[in-house]
Amino acid sequence: MHLIVAEKNLSARRIAEILSEGKKLTEHKDAGVSTYSFGDITTVGLRGHVVEIDFEPGYTNWRSEESTPRSLIDAKTIKIPTERKIVSLLQKLSRKADRVTIATDFDTEGELIGKEAFELIRAVNPKVVIDRARFSAITPQELKAAFSHTTELDFALAAAGEARQSIDLMWGASLTRFISLAARRGGQNILSVGRVQTPTLTMIVDREKEIEAFVPEKYWQLFLETEKGGERVDARHTHGRFLDKGVAEQSRDRTKAPLMVTDVRSGEKQDRAPSPFDTTTYIVASARLGFSAANAMRIAEDLYMNGFISYPRTDNTVYPPSLDIEGILRTIRNSPFKKDVDWVIANRRAVPTRGKKSTTDHPPIHPTGAATQEMLGNDAFRIYELVLRRFLATLAPDARWKTLKILLDAGGEEYTVTGGQLIEPGWHAVYPFSEAQETILPPFTTGEQLPVKKVKLDEKETQPPARYTQSKLIQRMEELGLGTKSTRHEVIAKLVSRKYVEGSPLRPTLVGRVVTESLEQHADMITKPDMTQTIEAHMQQIKEAKRTREDVIVESRQMLHRAFDQLEANETAIGEDIRGRTAEEMNLGKCPVCGGVLAIKHLRGNTQFIGCSRYPECTFNIGLPMAQWGFAVRTDEVCDKHHLNFVRLIRKGARPWDIGCPLCHHLASNKESLNEMPSMTGALAEKILSQHIYTVAELARSTPGSLAKRLDIPEEKAQNLISEGGSVLEKLRRRSECRKFMRDHLIPRKGRSYAKILSALKNAGITELSGLAHADIALLKSAGIGEEEAAQVLSQAKTVYYGQVLKEIGIPAVSLKKYVSAGITSPEEFCNHPPEYLSQVTGMSPATVKRHVELVCTYLKMPVPKTFSKQQIDRGKKELLAIKGIDKVTIEKLSRAGIINATQLLEADAVTVAAESGIMAHVIQDLQKAIRKKRENAIIQI
Ligand SMILES: [Zn+2]
Ligand SMILES: [Zn+2]
Repeated sequence: MHLIVAEKNLSARRIAEILSEGKKLTEHKDAGVSTYSFGDITTVGLRGHVVEIDFEPGYTNWRSEESTPRSLIDAKTIKIPTERKIVSLLQKLSRKADRVTIATDFDTEGELIGKEAFELIRAVNPKVVIDRARFSAITPQELKAAFSHTTELDFALAAAGEARQSIDLMWGASLTRFISLAARRGGQNILSVGRVQTPTLTMIVDREKEIEAFVPEKYWQLFLETEKGGERVDARHTHGRFLDKGVAEQSRDRTKAPLMVTDVRSGEKQDRAPSPFDTTTYIVASARLGFSAANAMRIAEDLYMNGFISYPRTDNTVYPPSLDIEGILRTIRNSPFKKDVDWVIANRRAVPTRGKKSTTDHPPIHPTGAATQEMLGNDAFRIYELVLRRFLATLAPDARWKTLKILLDAGGEEYTVTGGQLIEPGWHAVYPFSEAQETILPPFTTGEQLPVKKVKLDEKETQPPARYTQSKLIQRMEELGLGTKSTRHEVIAKLVSRKYVEGSPLRPTLVGRVVTESLEQHADMITKPDMTQTIEAHMQQIKEAKRTREDVIVESRQMLHRAFDQLEANETAIGEDIRGRTAEEMNLGKCPVCGGVLAIKHLRGNTQFIGCSRYPECTFNIGLPMAQWGFAVRTDEVCDKHHLNFVRLIRKGARPWDIGCPLCHHLASNKESLNEMPSMTGALAEKILSQHIYTVAELARSTPGSLAKRLDIPEEKAQNLISEGGSVLEKLRRRSECRKFMRDHLIPRKGRSYAKILSALKNAGITELSGLAHADIALLKSAGIGEEEAAQVLSQAKTVYYGQVLKEIGIPAVSLKKYVSAGITSPEEFCNHPPEYLSQVTGMSPATVKRHVELVCTYLKMPVPKTFSKQQIDRGKKELLAIKGIDKVTIEKLSRAGIINATQLLEADAVTVAAESGIMAHVIQDLQKAIRKKRENAIIQI
């Protein structure tokens, strides 16, 4: 079998469709992974990288003493499969193959993915022939050429990719860990640092600082409005910017009719057709159509995989001689742009335009297939049209403009009007995406006089430099050698997801800025592009086989160690700096009670809440759910009513949980419990709130005197509110105890929702443990708990609840333990069982048990069972043991029925005793006979 390994499932299918050429093509699924077979050939798609590089085990603990952040620099790495199903299918197929062709994308990343596949194949089939097919477009022509001239895998190119992976892991992991630990941040809140990411962030921060430092300067411009042939014409003063207002005003005042045309200069300008698209120019052009960099790349990859355009990751702006331009033109004549294609064929320039960079890997991005809007949908079709028209433009003739410059004089002041007119549209005819615009002027002749309609002096200000848009930033990254054509847009997306930058155009967040500035101050090599450029240069050397991967990694390690020398020496300063300056990002606004600053506080152990800066003087606080439900952060939204920033809980992999205004949330969640107080009225609630009392707990904690004063009510009424508050609080406590009990005792299961179960129980009237302890299994089942689990939960609820009651009644914890382990859990059992039995099973003295039984039965208002003294019990035991057929176990069983001596046993009803003791009735009757016989014998002896 000949196995073809493609980079993705979609390309595996496309390759099979094209190469099968009408042969029967069958799709198989193996553990969810598709293969496509025709004749002797099978294609399979990877999912990009199917293995991942990571550190050896033992480096996961951030707080470990041995594996410090610095230790990650020299840590050994291993490759771990990330797509196990694909890996095992690939190896299964490879065992049967006699030839394998790697057909991954044709660039460094694709070569590395190919090498990863190569290693997986070699591990199971050391002898199989493995070759490599390289193509820049998934089209019949390209594929046939590639598969008939396969080559070897380029191990140098793959090694460059591997070196980059190792270096990125080493830099990213060690620096991220170091900075996060120094700033005491963990979990959702870590501060990531990266080899390309950090210098890129620094550029955005630097630009922001330039903008802030910018001092605008005023300047003035003079404009004059005239008219020619009924058409309005605007002229501007040739002085340009006046920096002195007085001078500008003098010029304005001198500007007087007559207005005379002093010169008409016309000329011609060549307008060169644009050069072919590389990744960066493509991203810039698609940004003008409103596509973000990441979106533009995603769509382009889709179009590539479906054979509509060539591989979109390329630095090349020169069409290689091998590119079949005529063939492409023939193909795209079948698209909806036939008219434009025909125009270009009829008007083609001698040689296509070319850009500055010529590389040998991929051709510039160009169309490879014909598509319609129906096939692609709106967005993809717009991108397809852009690529197609750009291709046409590079083959179209240059445009020619007629330029016109008119000079005018009014009272000695010179004004000018300029115009431009396309006399030969050239490439503009097929590429409407350029910004060049025509300004067509009416004809002017030297010496003619025109009216002065209006003279206008505009006051303006110099503008700060603009923030980076994504596409501008990508251009700048390319100029500085930061990242690669494949990674630049991903780096920007990462900065956004790390909350280091936001908005469009991009601006840094407070955290983004603080981290950058702290690093700049203490280890500026991490923030500068130089180091990354050096590494990129090393990658190039690996590709050209001038250096080895190991050699480059060793050098990178040394660079990083030098950075750590600086960082570790300044660890405390860096940590304090970042912590101090980012505290602000947790501030929400003014404390409603004292006017201090409310801020989100994160404590160790997942506790988080909102507290006041004037604590302990001001104790106002708002509770938040534990951080495992989401790490609390501030958002930009502000409550209209309370002027506090909104709060959001964020959790990896989960949708954010918006709390909204924390005070609105606080009020709403406490409203219900305040309303549970019997004497609460709307007016009273208003009054309480106006005194900044938000919770029942705050009410219950007040003293009658102070509360009476604050609310202006009699002390008696205040006392009543406090005690009502106390009982509501107790009720709330019991409810939350019940919720916690359910969470602790129900086993977490996939698809199980505690909220759902709790609300079902609530609807059945069960919100407290006492209710739960008295519930029946059927009720728990109807709330969605399985039978077996329901029984268990019920018995645990009983144990916990009755334990609480008994403790309250006064049974000491030590004794309680003995009762529970003997199976006595409910208070009723104390009054239903004979105390002798309780004494028997718990091993406690009859006197102690008697005291307990009296306590419980009095509490329950049930009759206290008759009890016997220890002597009576001991005598009875002796008497019973003397009877044949009675042993210790029998005595214990009999005590359950309240029988402690032979007389009682003799007088009891056998059936009743049997039911209570668990001894069979006929055995009881036999025992009774034995006693009777024994007593008769005794009488005879007398
Ligand atoms: Zn306060
Ligand atoms: Zn609010």
